[in-house]
Amino acid sequence: MTQQNYDVAVIGGGLHGLCSALHLARAGKRVLVLERHWTGRHASGATAAGVRTLNRDRRELDLSLLSMELWPQLYDIVGDDCGFHAGGQICVAEDETAMERLRSRVEALQRDGYTHEELIDQDELRRWLPKISPHCVGASLARDNGAADPHRALSAFRRSVLKAGATLREQCGVENIERRGQDWLLHTNQGQWTVPMIVNAAGAWSARIAAMVGDHIPLGTKSSMMMVSERTEHFIKPVVSILGRSLSFKQSDQGTLVIGGGLQGVPDLDKETSTARMRVLAKGARAACDLFPEVQDLRIVRVWAGLEAATKDLLPIIGPSPNAPGVYHAFGFSGHGFQLVPIVGLVIKELIVDGGTDKPIDELGASRLMNKPEVEKVTPQ
Ligand SMILES: Cc1cc2nc3c(=O)[nH]c(=O)nc-3n(C[C@H](O)[C@H](O)[C@H](O)COP(=O)(O)OP(=O)(O)OC[C@H]3O[C@@H](n4cnc5c(N)ncnc54)[C@H](O)[C@@H]3O)c2cc1C
Repeated sequence: MTQQNYDVAVIGGGLHGLCSALHLARAGKRVLVLERHWTGRHASGATAAGVRTLNRDRRELDLSLLSMELWPQLYDIVGDDCGFHAGGQICVAEDETAMERLRSRVEALQRDGYTHEELIDQDELRRWLPKISPHCVGASLARDNGAADPHRALSAFRRSVLKAGATLREQCGVENIERRGQDWLLHTNQGQWTVPMIVNAAGAWSARIAAMVGDHIPLGTKSSMMMVSERTEHFIKPVVSILGRSLSFKQSDQGTLVIGGGLQGVPDLDKETSTARMRVLAKGARAACDLFPEVQDLRIVRVWAGLEAATKDLLPIIGPSPNAPGVYHAFGFSGHGFQLVPIVGLVIKELIVDGGTDKPIDELGASRLMNKPEVEKVTPQ
């Protein structure tokens, strides 16, 4: 039997689907969230949860800065600070050439009025990271950046979505979508729903949802890997990356080292799995040891990989469908969508409820990628 009790169906129960559902439900919309497995099953549950404006592409920087303002307010939004610590994010230069590249980026930003990134010299770097290898010559720094706890974020957003009155259907996968008059008919393994509006927040599978409504958007797949060490004494507060190498390095509250930074495993969209590759993880371990020689004898206790969509320009797709009335896309976050969660849900709500948004998403529309050659596969390193 087809049911018609909802204004909006949100496809995908990751953090972007949940945040969109939350704001829509609070604005009075009757919202149905459809999640094929359980909330946080894919990227949002596998993420490194770095909260970073540092080194953002200029085309998404203004949106990212707006999102940054919301991170310290999350307690008021979802009743939990989601474990967010503003310990800073640092991008290290290992030699003078790298330092020059950081300098020209920061100076260009400052010329355009941005103040969120600054340069620090070797002495200042050592004050921030006393155990850093002496070969590192300086860094760029974003002081208000940091990291959060993705599982606390998922629980808090899920709770808030339910409290706001939205319906959440887990183990409910969307299999097909058809146009019916002014509405969309969604076929799922738990039945059919007719809704006037859809939010496509289906993560790595979003291009398949988009194709069901007539948007053919080339999309690659990332399989970013992470590894975690045994606990060690606390020695680092910021999240650290290296210019020109794949590394993101931080220490959890429990003392474990959490190491990632875009190291790629092997994705399989049909099986919904991704496989870690030791040879590539070894590069991340090498980079971590080069930066902090003292960690070289620590044991790695766990590795994992998570699936996510990547666009050709590595920028997300946020906004109304160019072809399908009532359909809104929020996907393609290309490995850095966690930081954007608080703002994207708000943007989707404004688009649907207010009919438009003043947030800077003009460069993030789907049409920039459509009718172009297929995206290359994200090449494993
Ligand atoms: C290992 C790793 C590390 C990362 N580190 C960072 C970081 O440090 N900082 C940062 O900003 N970002 C990071 N990211 C990226 C960030 O985690 C993602 O951009 C973000 O979580 C994407 O959320 P989402 O809701 O769009 O997708 P997801 O969380 O993947 O949610 C999509 C959901 O849609 C569901 N779905 C798919 N198809 C259907 C269907 N047909 N019907 C119903 N449901 C469906 C899926 O089951 C899934 O649960 C990382 C990602 C990974 C994998």
